[in-house]
Amino acid sequence: MRRVLSPSTAAAIVAAVAVLCVAFTAGVAAAPDAGAVPAESAGNGPVTSDAVPSASAEECGPGDGTELVGCWNGTHYEESVDFAETDGLNETQLAALTDLTMARVEHVRQRPFREDVPVETVTRSEYLNDTASGNGSEAFRRWNDQVWEALFVVGDDANANSEIDSVFGGAVSGFYSPTADQIVIVVPDGESPDIDPSTLAHELLHAMQDQYHDLTDPRYVGATQDGDLAVDGIVEGEAVHVEERYAARCADNWTCAEPPESGGGGGDVPDFNFGILQTVLQPYGDGALYVRELRDEGGWAAVNETMNDPPASTAEVIHRDPDYEERSVSFEDAATGGWETYADQGVDGAETAGEASMFVMFWYQSAGVRFDGGYEYSVLEPDRSPAENYNVHFRTDAELQTRGLYNYAHPVTEGWAGDELYPYRNGERDGYVWATEWQTEGDAAAFRDAYVRMLTAHGDGDYAEGTVYEIGEESDFPGAYGVERDGTSVTITHAPSPAGVLELRPDADLALPDAGDGADGDGGDGGSDSGDDGDVSDGTDGADGANGSDNGNGSDDGNESGDTAGSTPGFGVAATLVAVMAALGLFARRST
Ligand SMILES: [Zn+2]
Repeated sequence: MRRVLSPSTAAAIVAAVAVLCVAFTAGVAAAPDAGAVPAESAGNGPVTSDAVPSASAEECGPGDGTELVGCWNGTHYEESVDFAETDGLNETQLAALTDLTMARVEHVRQRPFREDVPVETVTRSEYLNDTASGNGSEAFRRWNDQVWEALFVVGDDANANSEIDSVFGGAVSGFYSPTADQIVIVVPDGESPDIDPSTLAHELLHAMQDQYHDLTDPRYVGATQDGDLAVDGIVEGEAVHVEERYAARCADNWTCAEPPESGGGGGDVPDFNFGILQTVLQPYGDGALYVRELRDEGGWAAVNETMNDPPASTAEVIHRDPDYEERSVSFEDAATGGWETYADQGVDGAETAGEASMFVMFWYQSAGVRFDGGYEYSVLEPDRSPAENYNVHFRTDAELQTRGLYNYAHPVTEGWAGDELYPYRNGERDGYVWATEWQTEGDAAAFRDAYVRMLTAHGDGDYAEGTVYEIGEESDFPGAYGVERDGTSVTITHAPSPAGVLELRPDADLALPDAGDGADGDGGDGGSDSGDDGDVSDGTDGADGANGSDNGNGSDDGNESGDTAGSTPGFGVAATLVAVMAALGLFARRST
């Protein structure tokens, strides 16, 4: 029935998102009072006309309860289930838990469900068979490989699509399918389903969204990576917000079943690509904060309005600014020498990475302080250690009770105004041109400088302004790079060889590395930036010398370390259960 797969633009990210709902609920103890999530709905946020008072227990009789808030199938939200744990539910128990959770979601969301929400189970092997058709066409995979390589998250020798798969891998344990109008729980072969109550609430909220807004509507599928993550900012943000309020009630006065034991808790860091993971997680944290703010200022009506007109960029969600200004990116394909874009992929061949992905790009260069095989470079903040750069991602001024919250804002990326990333192919050779646009020249310069720091961290040589830079074969990102800033625009060009860079961008004001000193004279956009070269070297040197600082890292993740099971502050991924995903269903629609 459900087919997950199409060579669509956002295929990878959509698949990736399925995991997200999986992550981060386990291992994070429910703080008794997170402050951010008031237990009582009364008195929080303006009372708006769409806020419906809940039914009393007396009013809640048998029947389907579509007219009443806080009552479903005769189950009132203040009742409790008579089983203490959710490990290995039988069908009757699952149905009872679902009715109760629906009544409670209605109460928290102040809105009735319109229809029942079937909760089906499939075995892991059935699920894998269902989703095994891969990540789309060969052309899509090659195109997408270039996108993640351009983000310096998946190396030249690695396959982005399999890295994305590994992020999800066995981790998806459930999702909501808007095409089938049901929740699907993935159960290990031979076992009974178990489910975290607050995660079930999250999934049910997706079902409610679907009943009111129709999640199969095209508006809920971004045309690009940034667009998809942006839509998820409201779709997942609302679900996490409700999950938070649900968990707060459980910590307060509701009787809630215990979540199942998290598998393998306290174990190893999972072998995921954390660059991919942290990219797709962005909507869950930033989106939840955005929804909280919308609700505080305009009640649920404001959330409904944003569902009707979803965010267009991750920048909008990161900065919680519905009027976030984008600028058009001017790019014209002028490639020579046989290079071609992928006309059938993305938006006329282009992906838009967006602010969240760009932040992760730079942050990921320091993730080796925590994860084996990662890089230990200071790119975001060259004067600080890799460990301190790593911790920029954990610097948040808010908290979530049910999952980790991460920071995606930094001066080197927060002036984002637009970008178009065009993968190219030429026989066996791959390359790309990435045109980016920034709010101010200063924003463009900050991004350009950070990008050059990243290049020189991976390469050996010094960066010469106005000259194509080469990274050797031993790197994960070998080849030639041209970086040009022109006012508020920064254009990055990558090809296997320096000559290839000039084939891709014949008009680029760049000299080949062999040209030596003569190149400096030609470099039009440069002289004033030459001071950067010193910074780059400093950052790189600092990174190499700072390995010893890793030990101090655990204490730096202040907001996370106390809550996790002692293994990996900030990443509770390994454990959890139910991914709540609209995306898989959207996928199916797009493939038809
Ligand atoms: Zn979700």
